[in-house]
Amino acid sequence: MPGPLASYTTLRMGGPAERIVAAGTADEIVRAVLAANEPVLILAGGSNVVIGDSGFPGTVVLVRSRGLRVVAEDAGSVTVRVEAGEPWDDLVAATVANGWAGLECLSGIPGSTGATPIQNVGAYGQEVAETITGVEVYDRAEGTRQVIPAADCGFAYRGSIFKYADRWVVLSVDFRLTPSPLSGPVRYAELARALGVEVGDQVPLADARAAVLRLRAGKGMVLDATDPDTRSVGSFFTNPVLDRATYELFLERAAELGDPPAWPGADGMVKVSAAWLIDKAGFAKGHPGPDGVAISSKHTLALTNRSGTAHTVDLLALAATIRDTVHARFGVTLHPEPVLINCAL
Ligand SMILES: Cc1cc2nc3c(=O)[nH]c(=O)nc-3n(C[C@H](O)[C@H](O)[C@H](O)COP(=O)(O)OP(=O)(O)OC[C@H]3O[C@@H](n4cnc5c(N)ncnc54)[C@H](O)[C@@H]3O)c2cc1C
Repeated sequence: MPGPLASYTTLRMGGPAERIVAAGTADEIVRAVLAANEPVLILAGGSNVVIGDSGFPGTVVLVRSRGLRVVAEDAGSVTVRVEAGEPWDDLVAATVANGWAGLECLSGIPGSTGATPIQNVGAYGQEVAETITGVEVYDRAEGTRQVIPAADCGFAYRGSIFKYADRWVVLSVDFRLTPSPLSGPVRYAELARALGVEVGDQVPLADARAAVLRLRAGKGMVLDATDPDTRSVGSFFTNPVLDRATYELFLERAAELGDPPAWPGADGMVKVSAAWLIDKAGFAKGHPGPDGVAISSKHTLALTNRSGTAHTVDLLALAATIRDTVHARFGVTLHPEPVLINCAL
């Protein structure tokens, strides 16, 4: 059976910890971190971590702070300050209900608000980097509490200065939103199709949220205790961003497979689809791995604890097989999106 940290993760995997402490306010989070035996693991919704079967050899601080308040408002914007432990989708629902645009396409993503800057959470053409103005942190290196302006957060595709760094504990996040009954321009073709509009059109906020939730549920990307496809971390691999030479090599190797999806980026880099690579390397939806793990039956990118009692070692064995097969077939290396804790791929 998986260990005690399993019940704090959406994968339902992870061994024991020396201590688990719940902290209900920003002050309590700081106190818990200061009082903890090293090492310390900050854990919130547990929806973007893979914890090893041997668990965590230190203190796990559970982020359970709640609340949001408006801290600035003018004709064109409203800034909300949100405590780190506030469930993300409750925040998105509240912004949509209040007529504040900016987060609506990020509906249905599990986890906490304080974790969203960590990997610059994004979906359906929106990223939190577009609306975050500052992140209040406890800086463990300096022993101070401070606000890091968005420009200094190093936001990138599924990344920031915070990812893989245990220096900063996020206490609250400020989002600058736009009072508007309409969403921002819809950027994602699949979402535009679902809404029956063109890319670039705007739709009522509630329609955008409902369409995103529908699309996500169809892919097992909204947590549902009755659906084993959602015992995952969402996408297990990021979409690889290739330099020109690797992209050309990839195109040669993919020549007989039609037009692979690709998105040109800055400096000649090209982002390609991890789901496409995995599928074309021979891993279909539902593909089983060892001992109760499997690719989701609804989405090629999600690796799941199908049985509910599977182990991290087996999930990582499936992930390694996929990564190595994709590399051998296409010369492209897949990288994991979640944070691996006390385990390795
Ligand atoms: C079904 C499903 C669908 C998903 N879809 C998406 C998606 O569309 N887009 C996307 O970007 N992600 C997606 N994810 C991944 C995940 O939901 C997000 O990354 C989310 O922000 C993680 O929040 P959490 O509170 O669960 O973080 P946790 O898993 O608890 O933590 C993740 C990492 O952040 C650190 N951390 C958490 N809170 C803090 C804090 N307050 N201070 C410092 N460090 C902290 C942890 O130490 C860990 O390293 C999905 C996951 C699942 C299970």
